[in-house]
Amino acid sequence: MFLTRLIYASTIGDNFSQHSIEGILEAARCKNMKHNITGVLCFNCDYFLQCLEGPRADVNETYKRILNDDRHHSVVMLDYREIDSRDFSDWSMGYVPSSTISVPINLKFSEAADFNPYLMSGASAYMMLKALKQSVPTL
Ligand code: FAD
Repeated sequence: MFLTRLIYASTIGDNFSQHSIEGILEAARCKNMKHNITGVLCFNCDYFLQCLEGPRADVNETYKRILNDDRHHSVVMLDYREIDSRDFSDWSMGYVPSSTISVPINLKFSEAADFNPYLMSGASAYMMLKALKQSVPTL
C-alpha cells in the first residue's frame, strides 16, 4: 500500500472542552500506533492543523473518523499526496502547542502574524510543520 500524507485545517467546536486536547491525543496515539499512522497536530485556542502519514487506506479511514468528530468543524483538506518517505516517523501523533507557534514562524509561512492554517497553502502548511518538528518531543 502506498505511503500517503494528508494535511488539514479545522476549527475548534462547541463540544471541545479545556481537557479535550489530552483525550484527542491519547485516542489518536493509541489508534495511530495500531494502523502505522504517524504525524503531528498543531493546536491553538481556535484552530487545528494536522498532518497524517501512513498507508493510504489507513490515512483515509482515520481522516473519515476525524471528519465526523464534533469536537471540531469546518475541516478543510490542504494537501493529500503519495510520498516516498515519512517526515514524522518518530511520532504516533506529535503535539505542537500554541506557545511553540511564534509570530516569526507564522509570518514565515502565512500571510498573518497569528496562527490561522486556513490562510496557508498545503505547501506552506507542510513546510511549517517540518520547521516545527525539531521542537516536538518524541514519545
Ligand atoms: P468513538 O470513540 O466511538 O467516538 C465517536 C464520536 O464521539 C467522536 O467522533 C467524537 O465526536 C466523540 N468523542 C469521542 N471521544 C470523545 C471524548 N473523549 N470527549 C468528547 N467527545 C468524544 N483519531 C485517530 O485515530 N487518529 C488521529 O490522528 C486523530 N486526530 C484527531 C485530531 C483532532 C483535531 C480531533 C478532533 C480528533 C482526532 N482523532 C484522531 C479522534 C477521532 O476523531 C475519533 O474520535 C477517534 O479516532 C475514535 O474514533 P471512533 O470511530 O472509535 O469514535
